[in-house]
Amino acid sequence: MKSEFFDVVIVGAGLSGIGAACHLKDKCPERTFVILEGRENIGGTWDLFRYPGVRSDSDMYTLSYSFKPWDSEELIPSGETILSYILEASKENKIENHIRTNHKILKAEWEDKGSLWKVTVENHTTFYCKFLYLCSGYYRYDKGHEPNFKGSEVFRGPLIHAQKWPRDLEVQGKNIAVIGSGATAVTLVPELSKNAKKVTMIQRSPTYIASWPGEDWLANILRKFFPARLISFIMKTKYNIFQQFIYYFAQKTPDKAKSFLLSRVKKEVGPKIDAEKHFVPNYDPWDQRLCLAKDGDFFKVLKDGKASIVTDHIDSFYENGIKLKSGEKVQADLIILATGLELLPFGGMELFVNSEKIDFSKSYTYKGTGISNVPNFLSVFGYINASWTLRADLISKYLCRLLNHLKSKNFKKCTPKLGEIGSVSRPFIDGFAPGFFKRSIHLFPKQGFKKPWINPQNYKIDKEMFLTDSLDDGVMDFD
Ligand SMILES: Cc1cc2nc3c(=O)[nH]c(=O)nc-3n(C[C@H](O)[C@H](O)[C@H](O)COP(=O)(O)OP(=O)(O)OC[C@H]3O[C@@H](n4cnc5c(N)ncnc54)[C@H](O)[C@@H]3O)c2cc1C
Repeated sequence: MKSEFFDVVIVGAGLSGIGAACHLKDKCPERTFVILEGRENIGGTWDLFRYPGVRSDSDMYTLSYSFKPWDSEELIPSGETILSYILEASKENKIENHIRTNHKILKAEWEDKGSLWKVTVENHTTFYCKFLYLCSGYYRYDKGHEPNFKGSEVFRGPLIHAQKWPRDLEVQGKNIAVIGSGATAVTLVPELSKNAKKVTMIQRSPTYIASWPGEDWLANILRKFFPARLISFIMKTKYNIFQQFIYYFAQKTPDKAKSFLLSRVKKEVGPKIDAEKHFVPNYDPWDQRLCLAKDGDFFKVLKDGKASIVTDHIDSFYENGIKLKSGEKVQADLIILATGLELLPFGGMELFVNSEKIDFSKSYTYKGTGISNVPNFLSVFGYINASWTLRADLISKYLCRLLNHLKSKNFKKCTPKLGEIGSVSRPFIDGFAPGFFKRSIHLFPKQGFKKPWINPQNYKIDKEMFLTDSLDDGVMDFD
């Protein structure tokens, strides 16, 4: 098969990959690039997830691109709307012709001789590029996290993971058990309650959930007088500051944050529901992502008795439902697993530098985007405490700065060289502890304690690192 050559290969045509291509076209117009996408469709997460009611769990102003204003009244839009927004960005910026779908990358090999990446694609041509940019997300696409439940084989009804929602799944008039307590469960329960006979959410332990309005009243007023770009800018700034304030407030004064959240929940669910039992987790607010209930929909269905919540451990499944450790039984015709994702570093790709395989877990992260001693390589991992796109946009802008610097100085490669940074390290993301992170975060590169070997998950520090700090920082080696 014939091979192809591009200046930049972008891996993944999701929110980040399409955004990256738009930045490249704008800031590095003379660079050739291709987006290689493993799936048949583009859109990544927002194409894959099809469960009823799937939507964002952060405001769309900060989830939208810096170059494409969000011009809609919806503050927390549906997955379908987000997908349309991504497709629109791709069309407006003429990205479509740069995308190759059904191109799953298996490995990439850098050779100093030639200063090129050789990119191996399943059943396809080999690609060569000068720079490799991974926008491959952070979790497995082929399967979600599926814990083994005793007796699952005897359960008579369908057992479905929310990540693999069948298009023709019938929920009308059914007793449905939803296992899980994260954003997926909190979104699914009110949506399924519209048509099901009864929905029961079974959680091993609670999650912090806050009601959030589906629209921003201020934006709606401003929209009547000002252009979309200005409103989007104001709202992006507002929500960005707000997200950081909430995160800071929660981390610094967890007890106050806890009682604030609990008092709000109590008001929403009313006196019949034991808010302390079902809504006070055994971790502090924002040690795991806070879930949003759009216009309080989740609390409403609990209050109205259309859905119920059970905090207990599952003992086993039986023919007609689930037995709990307390001895209680939850009858179900259909069981939904909203049990989360499986983390996957770097799109499952193998990386080699001069024939040596990179062990990610032994590497360090450079600014939360590069990998120690890996040349001409960046990857996108967004925020866990704010919208993903805020960080993805910053990293893409940094990529463009780097590419333009390489060109202007006639360099062929840039490598974050790992010097002496001490033996103490931290996980790639520190202080964030949901189950799916705990299970696999050790597979990602580690971080140190000082710039640039950090992944601060802080917009202000990232903005400095990516947009204003010198490219030539004494660690990034230009050659
Ligand atoms: C249900 C759900 C809701 C979410 N809600 C929010 C939210 O409200 N706010 C927020 O900030 N974040 C949210 N997230 C996180 C979300 O994933 C990001 O917002 C964003 O969509 C990530 O975009 P991405 O392009 O980086 O990754 P993805 O959307 O995961 O796209 C990655 C793409 O890369 C492709 N790919 C991967 N590996 C390879 C390979 N080896 N070869 C070729 N192609 C490859 C994949 O097929 C995919 O198309 C949510 C995640 C989920 C699962």
